[in-house]
Amino acid sequence: MTDETDSGSGDAATLAERVRDGELRLHELEDHADADTAAAARRLLVEEDSGASLDAVGDYGFPAEAADANIENMVGAVQVPLGVAGPVHVNGGALQGERYLPLATTEGALLASVNRGCSVISAAGGAAARVLKSGMTRAPVFRVEDVVEAEALVEWVRDNRSALAEAAESTTSHGELEEVTPYVVGNSVYLRFRYDTKDAMGMNMATIATEEACAVVEEETAAELVALSGNLCSDKKPAAINAVEGRGRTVTADVKVPREVVESRLHTTPEAVAELNTRKNLVGSAKAASLGFNAHVANVVAAMFLATGQDEAQVVEGANAITTAEVRDGDLYVSVSLASLEVGTVGGGTKLPTQAEGLDVLGLRGGGDPPGSNADALAECIAVGSLAGELSLLSALASRHLSSAHSDLGR
Ligand code: NAP
Repeated sequence: MTDETDSGSGDAATLAERVRDGELRLHELEDHADADTAAAARRLLVEEDSGASLDAVGDYGFPAEAADANIENMVGAVQVPLGVAGPVHVNGGALQGERYLPLATTEGALLASVNRGCSVISAAGGAAARVLKSGMTRAPVFRVEDVVEAEALVEWVRDNRSALAEAAESTTSHGELEEVTPYVVGNSVYLRFRYDTKDAMGMNMATIATEEACAVVEEETAAELVALSGNLCSDKKPAAINAVEGRGRTVTADVKVPREVVESRLHTTPEAVAELNTRKNLVGSAKAASLGFNAHVANVVAAMFLATGQDEAQVVEGANAITTAEVRDGDLYVSVSLASLEVGTVGGGTKLPTQAEGLDVLGLRGGGDPPGSNADALAECIAVGSLAGELSLLSALASRHLSSAHSDLGR
C-alpha cells in the first residue's frame, strides 16, 4: 500500500512531524491513523534519518492491519520470491495426493533441485510420510530450597497431573496437556509440559496454558517460579532434547527409487548415493558433532516456513533431521526423519494473505477435520519436500555435478 493520503486524523507527513516534535512515539501511530498511514509515516522518518529509499519496502500487497498481530513498528514488507516444486505425490497419514510445494527463497538452484527430487519421487510412485509424535513443549523453571524439596515437588507433580491439566486446559478450547516431565538440577526444578496443540504450532497456546498451571504449583507447593521458560523447552536454540524427544511434529518420509530412475534421471547409482550418505551425512556429521545428519533439510524447511507463515526462527529445530540411504534389491531406499518440526495451519503468520495463499496451494489453510490433521499434513508435505531436496543434492554430489548445476543456472 503506497497511498499516503489523509486518513482522517492525520496524513503520513503530519504524523511523522508529530513524532519529530516529540508529541508522539513511533509505536503509537496506529492510535492516530490507520495502519497503512502509520507505516507510511514511519517510512518517512526512517528515510529521512537513514537516507535510504523505502519505495520497494512500501510497495506491499496487503492491508497493513492484516499484520497487526504479527509486527510492531511496521514500515512495509520484505518480499521473498516464491516458487513451486512438483507436483509430487504424497502418501501421508493425513494427506494423500499430488501437491505443488510452495517454497520462498533467495537461493538460486534450490527450487530446481527440489523440483528434480519431486519428479524422481513421483516417478517412483510417490513418497510415504507419517507424523509419529506430536507435542509442543514449555518448561518453566522453579526455585526450591534444596534437593529434598526438589524431590517433594517432583512427587507432587506426579500425584497431581490432573490438577495441572485442568488448570492448563482452562485457557484453551483446543490444547490438551499430554505430559509433564520433571528435571532436577540442584535446587532448580524444570517441568517440561507437552501439549497436543492440534492445528496450531502452539507456542503461545502452550505458554498461556503453562502459566495457569504454574500458578497451581506455586499455590500448592513451596516452589517459586523463576521463569515461565527455563530453556529446557527448548525453543529456537539448537538443543539435543528436541532431536531426541521431539518437539512440534516428529515426521518421517521415505521412498524407494528404482535403479533405472536413479540412473536415467539422477545420473548416478544407488550404491554411490548410499556410500555418499554414509560418509557425508552420517560419519561427517558425527565427526562435526552436528545435530543435523542431513545434507540441506534446513533449505526446504526454511523455504516452506516462509511460504506458509511459520515462525522462521524455528528452522533451528526443523533442521534436526537424519537422512538415511541404502541399496535395497538393487534400488535406492532413502528416508528423512525430522525430529522437531514446529508447524501450524492456524495462528501466527498463517493468516497473512500471501502466506495463507501458500497454505491454499497445499489445500491446508486453517483448522483441519479432525483438528490437528491439517498441521500433520503440512508436516508431511515439508518432510516430502525435504526428502526431494536430499535425493537431488546427494545425487548431484554423487555424480559430481553440484558446481556445474550452480554455474549452469548462473549462480
Ligand atoms: P496463536 O495465534 O497464539 O493461537 C492459535 C489459536 O488458534 C489457538 O490458541 C486456538 O485457540 C485457536 N484455534 C482455532 N482453531 C484451531 C485448531 N484447529 N487447532 C488449534 N488451535 C486452533 O498461535 P500459537 O500456535 O499458539 O503460537 C504461534 C505464535 O507464537 C507465532 O506467532 C509465534 O511467532 C509465536 N511464538 C510465541 C512464543 C511465546 O513464547 N509465546 C515463542 C515462540 C513463538 P484456543 O486456544 O482458544 O482453542
